[in-house]
Amino acid sequence: MTVQVGVIGTGMIGQEHIRRLTDSVAGAEVCAVSDMDIERAKEVASGVNAHAVDSGHDLICDPQVDAVVVTSSGPTHAEYVLAAIHAGKYVFCEKPLATTAEDCLRIVEAESAHGRHLVQVGFMRRYDPGYRAMKRAIDDGHIGTPLLMHCAHRNPTVPETYHSAMATHDTAIHEIDTVRWLLDEEIRSVQVLTPRPTALRFDHLTDPQVMLFETTGGARVDVEVFVNCQYGYDIRCETVGERGTVALPEPSQAVMRSHGQVRMGLHQHWKTRFAEAFDVEFQEWIGGVLDGEVTGPSAWDGYAAAEIGGATVSALHTGEVVDVPLNDRPPFYA
Ligand code: NAP
Repeated sequence: MTVQVGVIGTGMIGQEHIRRLTDSVAGAEVCAVSDMDIERAKEVASGVNAHAVDSGHDLICDPQVDAVVVTSSGPTHAEYVLAAIHAGKYVFCEKPLATTAEDCLRIVEAESAHGRHLVQVGFMRRYDPGYRAMKRAIDDGHIGTPLLMHCAHRNPTVPETYHSAMATHDTAIHEIDTVRWLLDEEIRSVQVLTPRPTALRFDHLTDPQVMLFETTGGARVDVEVFVNCQYGYDIRCETVGERGTVALPEPSQAVMRSHGQVRMGLHQHWKTRFAEAFDVEFQEWIGGVLDGEVTGPSAWDGYAAAEIGGATVSALHTGEVVDVPLNDRPPFYA
């Protein structure tokens, strides 16, 4: 059987995922697309033999659509995810699940009331081979109890529209999810340090930022977010345990020896750094839809990330240690 997928939002990542679902993922076909810009939707649709639909809501109700991918702008996510749950359709939503913790909770409540897991959130690092190897090493006890994690998320540059809270909501949201997933613990408090800013930034932006998380089990995590590092897209993570450490490998690039030097290229964009992770993420999601059981990052994970993100932005503004006001996890998401 082939899953007929409808995609809402044909901007940058929407077009990437449409290409991925068409060329790389087995068992899926993109049959419908929609976008605020209907001409853009028509153009993208014609490239993959799909049809353009006037609105996201019409797409969700389209009987040809088995499952929905939401890649529109963040503020539109909640209404489309809620509509997909209402229609009883599987929905893959790019991060964030919603832009407020309250809207995430509405989704959690709607899905719980529906009684079946329909929602998956696009935290693709859980599908990256390096992160998966790290998760196995931690779970198998190879490094003993994890005590510390050191993470860095560096981008070469960001546009002028990027502001200081986006360092959390757009950027560190990935670290927030991977920390929770790798350690299998919640983040209970956060503080943000602001070192001397780089001169190579727009004046309104606090860059870099160092986020300090404490988990419910007492592990400490530092996350450097540096979005004007100039040199490349560089994601680093090391977990320190009682008996050893485990770190992400360098993403595979050819190693050159010339002019008396050994050199290796660096990724410049998340699209290439996490290309394999995105492919695996969608292949497993389609497999889950076909099996009737999606097992990826859940609506609860989307809610937790929003709540931790909110506390992180408060901590940036106050300079204080801020407790994360996380609800108790319902048995539905155990
Ligand atoms: P983008 O290029 O701006 O694309 C968003 C598209 O959605 C635009 O074409 C926009 O149209 C359209 N849109 C806006 N409101 C809509 C609505 N109500 N219904 C249908 N379409 C609507 O943004 P992007 O970079 O692709 O990001 C999209 C989402 O993916 C964001 O939530 C972002 O955080 C997430 N993302 C995730 C990752 C990751 O690493 N997992 C990476 C990049 C992006 P207009 O331009 O006309 O507004």
